Amino acid sequence: MIWSRPVKVVTQVKLVPTPVQAAALKHTLRTVNEAACWVSDVAFERGVPREYELRRHTYAELRERGLGAQVAQHVIKKVRDAYTSLHANLRAGNLGKKGSKRRVKAESKPIAFRPQAAHPYDDRCLSWQYDAQTVSIWTMTGRLKGVRFACSPNALKQLIAYRKGESDLVERDGVFYLVATCEVPEAETGEPDAFIGVDLGIVNIATTSTGHRAAGRNLNRYRKRQLALRAKLQKKGTKSAKRLLRKQRRKESRRAKDINHCVSKTIVTEAERTGRGISLEELTGIRERVRLRKPQRVALHSWAFAQLADFIVYKARRAGVAVVFVDPAYSSKECAECGHVDRLNRISQALFTCRGCGVVAHADRNASRVLASRGQNAWDAGRTSHVPATSPVRLMAKTRQITSQPVRL
Ligand SMILES: [Zn+2]
Repeated sequence: MIWSRPVKVVTQVKLVPTPVQAAALKHTLRTVNEAACWVSDVAFERGVPREYELRRHTYAELRERGLGAQVAQHVIKKVRDAYTSLHANLRAGNLGKKGSKRRVKAESKPIAFRPQAAHPYDDRCLSWQYDAQTVSIWTMTGRLKGVRFACSPNALKQLIAYRKGESDLVERDGVFYLVATCEVPEAETGEPDAFIGVDLGIVNIATTSTGHRAAGRNLNRYRKRQLALRAKLQKKGTKSAKRLLRKQRRKESRRAKDINHCVSKTIVTEAERTGRGISLEELTGIRERVRLRKPQRVALHSWAFAQLADFIVYKARRAGVAVVFVDPAYSSKECAECGHVDRLNRISQALFTCRGCGVVAHADRNASRVLASRGQNAWDAGRTSHVPATSPVRLMAKTRQITSQPVRL
């Protein structure tokens, strides 16, 4: 028997409320987040007690403020969870060393919640009518029925089949979204015949050892343009400029996300089709490793790479494709043919010429082949992972443990 654990993914739908419904949603989010700010103050004053104790100090007043029993519990849990993840981040050093400006700032005051911040809804406060594409949702002014939502046909299919647990209500730029959690079953990880190495970079977002190359030219050009616009807006500093900035930042991350979805899909589909595993580089050092001239440096967002790796991992898990993470050190200077390592092997951004055996190759292609063979070695050795500290990488490392040691019952 094969034991497959579900992969958690989120699916977002856009709400299309009537003006009256929108006003109720807005009022509700504002109210619960004000309440969360207050609970957060209490938690902070009392040294962040456990959830049940925090409930003792805040539950009655939340009910007096007109929050239902469920919602009051959710507010308290949301606040406690926020402190838990803040502490995890502090421990992991994600907010800098002890005494650093950023860290002191985060530690010295209660966590605050924006009026539009996400709020969790469970099945008692939110129900879905998939056929009608509506939801029925609790608000401060009573339950709203028949609130329409919009999403892609694929997202709808996923919701119907796999939605489970809580969904978050969130407001962005005046638009309401529900972010639902779906638990998609994972396929059994097969024994790979070989590995596809994936080299990540700026000029080429991803190059595979099988010859696929996703060029970053359009994205980089777009980012450069956006950067100029951003500088202009920041200089202006007005309220509307700030709003535009926010909007623009989201647009840019949406665009990177679309590209990452496409690239990861191509890679995973190819691995699945050819019975291969995927070998990815550990991303901990990408900022240090990729040295660039200044105008390019601004185009480098390590989160975009981490996201691409995340997408590859979860699509691979769904397809039962093995993924391993390997140390990328010197992968750009090592020859995939003879293994000779030399700084001078890499002649330019694009060109690789081996000083040892004389082979000439595209530099990214060579690196991806080096990664592919390292992936094969890692798989064969079945070595246990070392877990890096930052969050996206930790997520990937965890997945690697799972994928490199397939669980069978
Ligand atoms: Zn060589």
